[in-house]
Amino acid sequence: MTNPSFSAIELPEALASNLSSLGYEEMTAIQTQALPLVLAGEDLIGQAKTGSGKTAVFGLGILSKLIIDEYHTQALVLCPTRELADQVAGEIRRLARGIPNIKVLTVCGGVPFGPQANSLASGAHIVVGTPGRIEDHIGKDTIKLGRVNTLVLDEADRMLDMGFQEVLEKIVGEIPSQRQTLLFSATFPAAIETISQRFTNQAKKVKIGANASNLDIDQHFHRIENGGRIKAVQLLLMEHEPESSIVFCNTKQETNELAQALRDMNFDVLALHGDLDQPERDLVMTRFANKSASILVATDVASRGLDIEALDAVINYQIARNLDVHIHRIGRTGRAGRTGQAFTLYTDQEKLKLQQLGEQLNLYIENEPLPPKAALNKIVPRCKMITIQISGGKKQKVRPGDILGALTGDSGIAGSDVGKIKIGPASSFVAVSREVIKQALVKLGQDKIKGRNFKVRSL
Ligand code: AMP
Repeated sequence: MTNPSFSAIELPEALASNLSSLGYEEMTAIQTQALPLVLAGEDLIGQAKTGSGKTAVFGLGILSKLIIDEYHTQALVLCPTRELADQVAGEIRRLARGIPNIKVLTVCGGVPFGPQANSLASGAHIVVGTPGRIEDHIGKDTIKLGRVNTLVLDEADRMLDMGFQEVLEKIVGEIPSQRQTLLFSATFPAAIETISQRFTNQAKKVKIGANASNLDIDQHFHRIENGGRIKAVQLLLMEHEPESSIVFCNTKQETNELAQALRDMNFDVLALHGDLDQPERDLVMTRFANKSASILVATDVASRGLDIEALDAVINYQIARNLDVHIHRIGRTGRAGRTGQAFTLYTDQEKLKLQQLGEQLNLYIENEPLPPKAALNKIVPRCKMITIQISGGKKQKVRPGDILGALTGDSGIAGSDVGKIKIGPASSFVAVSREVIKQALVKLGQDKIKGRNFKVRSL
């Protein structure tokens, strides 16, 4: 079944023509159902998850009624994490490409307050932020929400999970009640029903993605012996060679054990769990996103709010605690327009859970044999890039162009061998092709950046 194209709805021309340049042709399921309501000014409660195309639903809603000549904040988007806020702001900027001079500002914790307050003071049409930092700005009177006419709560269930209920109440209290409110949540526990009713007005409900048939994902189930999990993961990785994959574990200890075992086999793997502090977590995400690690081993809690583009595969080390968690995990692959692969491992002890999962998913689950052992004779696939850390960041006024310039200048490496560059507070990270890493390190070691010799090392 194909969905209608964007031409079926009335969008301002500048937005519509940009959509085709982005390669968005057909609407996704949530867009088909929700966009007409949002454009008509209705409040909306949407059950949809990352990957459904929900960002474009509220992004296009906001952009279609924005008054560009007025520099006050007209829309506020609240997200549970900085990663999600960055990703949402990026998508809104892409959607806004056809309209000049739209200012979208992210306002999240983990970065200095002062410069953020200055940016807010100079005016932003759209603010995308995390509740804690927005609350701080309200407290210091550095954000003005009195003329916001669209409020979006994205991943509302995660925000409540993270204890933001009171903060949300406070923020919503600052926004005029004459507004359009769009609330998105992957799950609908009682607490979400409560805030939905409090924050929205005669909202229309749209439900997508609670059943896996909406997801473009090939699901595979593999019965394994007790003690056979690590081997099974190895076989799947060797056979399918995903460029980016996540293995979900139920506990932190398993995460560490599995990551270490895979590392010993020479895979480029990183572990993500609740014991990491924010800088460690950021570093893991930087390295995974810039393709200098191909496998992320993570717990559900730690991976909340992460937005990772283009995952080729998700592996469930065990069956997830419940259906919502399962869907949330596998939904990280198979993003709009691509078919994802999800592999779930289970032992005989998990048969009952498997049966329940099959009933809930309305899926006939069949055990598939693991790939043949011959897969292990191949060379372990390595990731394309390696991250170089440079001991200078925002504080030292290092900019992406400075790093790119130093790498590719006189007898440097080719621009095509330079991947993502991320400038942190006091250090920066650049991904460089594995084949030219030595040359890149020498070049960065010799050349000055911003007139200084920073320390560089590969991670
Ligand atoms: P989201 O669920 O909003 O995070 O969107 C998931 C991904 O799908 C993003 O990378 C979007 O750029 C992309 N996307 C959203 N809508 C469409 C569409 N109609 N056609 C193709 N890609 C889309």
